[in-house]
Amino acid sequence: MTWSPEMSEARRARRGQMDWLNDPVLSYKLVCDGKDPLTNRFVVARKNHLCSICWGPIDKGERIRAESRRSADGKRIETRRVCRVCCEAIARGEQP
Ligand SMILES: [Zn+2]
Repeated sequence: MTWSPEMSEARRARRGQMDWLNDPVLSYKLVCDGKDPLTNRFVVARKNHLCSICWGPIDKGERIRAESRRSADGKRIETRRVCRVCCEAIARGEQP
């Protein structure tokens, strides 16, 4: 079955919280603590960041993956971001 652009758009809009399990980029493990992240999705960077994989720059406005999870001591929320270059490498099945 093929998805028309309208259908895949509607499907994206309905994306539930656990849908990231089906996406190779979103399901690529950044942390292996056995817990699910609090949030894990594609976002547009609102300011400059550093990539959590390659430590390369993430520019404001870049479409990136952002994952937040509770720190090991449970006191803070840590957000990890993956730059566009790394996202594309993962999507191609390469090691970023
Ligand atoms: Zn990167």
